[in-house]
Amino acid sequence: MTTFASDPIAAIATAPGRGGIGVVRVSGRELALLIDRLFGGTTLAPRHAHYLPFNDAAGQPIDAGIALYFKGPNSYTGEDVLELQGHGGPAVLQRLLRRCLEAGADLGLRHAEPGEFTQRAFLNERLDLAQAEAVADLIDASSEAAARSAMASLSGAFSARVNTLADQVVRLRMLVEATLDFPEEEIDFLEKYQARPALQHIQDDLRALIALARQGMILRTGLHVVLAGQPNVGKSSLLNALAGDDVAIVTPIAGTTRDKVAQQIHIDGVPLHIVDTAGLRDTEDTVESLGIARSWAEIEKADVILHLQDARRPGDELDRAIVRRLPAHTPVLTVYNKIDLLAPDEQATMLAAQADSTGIRASVDARTGGGVRSRSDTDANNSTVPASSETSTGASVSSTTTHPVPPNIPGPASIHSPSTLGISAKTGRGLDALRKHLLDIAGWNPGAESPWLARERHQRALQLAAQHIDLAAGHASNNDQALDLFAEELRLAHNELCAITGQFTSDDLLGEIFSSFCIGK
Ligand code: GDP
Ligand code: ZN
Repeated sequence: MTTFASDPIAAIATAPGRGGIGVVRVSGRELALLIDRLFGGTTLAPRHAHYLPFNDAAGQPIDAGIALYFKGPNSYTGEDVLELQGHGGPAVLQRLLRRCLEAGADLGLRHAEPGEFTQRAFLNERLDLAQAEAVADLIDASSEAAARSAMASLSGAFSARVNTLADQVVRLRMLVEATLDFPEEEIDFLEKYQARPALQHIQDDLRALIALARQGMILRTGLHVVLAGQPNVGKSSLLNALAGDDVAIVTPIAGTTRDKVAQQIHIDGVPLHIVDTAGLRDTEDTVESLGIARSWAEIEKADVILHLQDARRPGDELDRAIVRRLPAHTPVLTVYNKIDLLAPDEQATMLAAQADSTGIRASVDARTGGGVRSRSDTDANNSTVPASSETSTGASVSSTTTHPVPPNIPGPASIHSPSTLGISAKTGRGLDALRKHLLDIAGWNPGAESPWLARERHQRALQLAAQHIDLAAGHASNNDQALDLFAEELRLAHNELCAITGQFTSDDLLGEIFSSFCIGK
């Protein structure tokens, strides 16, 4: 890495605001001189806590606290690191930081950029790139499940899986290239080195890793669920009911407003951003139509659309018009609300059908749309939208409408379609089933919690690696030209895998990754 800046850096490492303790952190190749200036000749034994006065340049006390010195390379960044733990008030910490910057001005000490401590840890090979990203993901984790997975990534579990795979690819590639280098030796390469089973093994591992990465991505970024439907079907009531029951850690997400029309909730540790929208209908009212335009914009961005209808008049003409406009690439969960207003027998049949469907769950490949009703099915056949709740009890009637996912987006492994899904936002009935189906339709597999958190970058690299391995398999025949191509595809697959852990990564990408960190990390 040629662009590695090595000036010493300093920042407040604890969160802004008040706290019992706050930490100012300094990292640089050689901090002995700075320490000498800050503490008037007192030397700090590495990795020992020293209780000391923190004085300003004039010798006046700013605070007193613990100084910790880590001698590089045995530190977080791999450089010398100094941590000053003082009282956690913004004024104290600002003065402490300023004092450090003054004392180190002639040594080039400057304020750290976001993520710069972790970037140094990466550049000094204390962490690989996936682990460095996990640092930010652990800090940002909004649920315990996400934090557990981030910690697994940070400890290297994900990197280890990727490295094992990369090693398998490189071993195979070395064998092919050796064959290419000595063409006079008539080796039956594929036979001798069992190339086909080896390839098959790599393909299987990649597929498993991609499925796990998808889980990890859902845990990390959460799902964007948009409530759509006519006015007064109960969208806002449902949002409140779901948010009101949520007992998980609720944290504001950067860049999102947490006004009452958007809530973050957790279901089994999976973060869901649920967005309420203005009711969809034809209107002459300008203000209302602006709201409706915004609703459609939200619907376009959704990972999952929850189409809420009134159980007393499900699938009426307006709902069918809404269904026709829903984006074809997004899974849609159709839910009938206000079942408490149905006659008791209608209610009972609806809930019974629901209970049945959780016992017998059909596994359906959403990528092909096979067996899952697509929107056009719904359009063509109104029987998928029951005209009244009495007709909605038959097993042939599906209230879960799923759109086929295009092949480049890894779709949910299976969709469990309930025959009907009725709820009452008012009484809370059916909400547990709704929660399950929301995760289900988004492709969350609770039995396979990802042991690590994944990012879109990882997912993309794994998919590209898989494509190259598939291409390699197509070239695996015994002639030199094909073997050349075979080797080349293996090389490209290997590069993709190495990019995950940061062995081959552009400076641009590194800048992008680390600039999204918080200051002081
Ligand atoms: P939105 O326009 O779709 O957001 O609908 P609201 O959430 O504002 O609800 C419209 C009306 O329906 C309100 O009077 C709610 O109290 C009522 N409502 C919502 N959900 C239910 C329900 O499950 N049962 C009953 N009986 N009323 C409901
Ligand atoms: Zn509303």
